[in-house]
Amino acid sequence: MSLVDDLYRETILDHYHNPRNHGCIENATTSVEGVNPLCGDELTLYLKVNEAGLIEDIKMNAHGCSINTASGSMMSEAILGQTVERAKEIIESFKNMMLTKGEELPLDEEMEDLEALRGVKKYPVRIKCALLPWNTLLEGLETAGAKPGLSSSLSDSK
Ligand code: ZN
Repeated sequence: MSLVDDLYRETILDHYHNPRNHGCIENATTSVEGVNPLCGDELTLYLKVNEAGLIEDIKMNAHGCSINTASGSMMSEAILGQTVERAKEIIESFKNMMLTKGEELPLDEEMEDLEALRGVKKYPVRIKCALLPWNTLLEGLETAGAKPGLSSSLSDSK
């Protein structure tokens, strides 16, 4: 029995076979690459963040396993149209779900599909596959947030 058989097969396979927001953005404001050497997952993430700090577009070019591709696809749906601040909260709560050993916080409603990845926790080596798109996004948002006018926390630091 494969890993995917043991999980929420349909949701994961659907996102794996039809990844949402796949491709690249020509006029992206940020692009970041992520690699998971343990599994061989690779992805390039493109973001278009507007001056109000809203994520107007997100696209991904992923060459990874089913868990990696599905996780990235679900992430793009949860993140598209959110503010950078809100996106960071979503990342935080997904990582909490995947990394917490004890009681987890409930997921927010825009993260419904991501429940399907909860079962990956039984396969610790694959958690990195599920987290790669999220860690890559976080890196991208740090870069996007560092631009003038996008981050209130940075603008007053000097
Ligand atoms: Zn993988």
